[in-house]
Amino acid sequence: MFNLILFGPPGSGKGTQSIKLAEKYMLKHVSTGDILRSEVKNQTVLGIKAQAIMNTGELVPDELLIEILHAVMENNKNAKGFIFDGFPRTIVQAKALDQLLVKMQVSINNVISLEVEDDEVVNRLLKRAEIEGRKDDNTETINNRLTVYKSQTCPLLEYYDKQKKLYRIDGIGTIDSIFKSICSKLD
Ligand code: ADP
Repeated sequence: MFNLILFGPPGSGKGTQSIKLAEKYMLKHVSTGDILRSEVKNQTVLGIKAQAIMNTGELVPDELLIEILHAVMENNKNAKGFIFDGFPRTIVQAKALDQLLVKMQVSINNVISLEVEDDEVVNRLLKRAEIEGRKDDNTETINNRLTVYKSQTCPLLEYYDKQKKLYRIDGIGTIDSIFKSICSKLD
């Protein structure tokens, strides 16, 4: 199994690159943001709990994310590997993921961090707001998502760097040039 995590601030292009990587390396793409948005759309118990939190840009509680993770792994037992996009976002989530992978006798192989500065991601997200109308793409929520990313998720980079699994990639450029830089690290 080959398991990959993609980190990056909101608007860094994680989703776009994950889809391309999943296709190239035949991995199951797991976007917790997409899963949560689908739960919200269907107004499931989980979706109703997550909705208000997502609109503020705060993180949905770890126990709900761990529940989602367990369901995803249970439903994809034959996957060649996973690409985690937007997960883990806290140390608690990272440890839960490690535990689950240990049980499956596999581990995280590589971690990619897409690096894009604040001004650029804010511009990208405000542009996306006009096209996609995502509820959390407004100035106030974007700023909070960035703050939450720095305070709760960035410490995870160190966690994986210590394990010598982390590659930092410049997230500025064309979709294809960034994809090539990621692939060159993985191949
Ligand atoms: P972003 O563009 O901010 O990276 P995502 O689509 O990954 O957005 O996630 C949107 C929102 O969903 C987050 O702001 C958060 O509220 C919630 N969310 C997604 N993944 C997680 C997670 N692993 N832990 C907690 N909350 C999450």
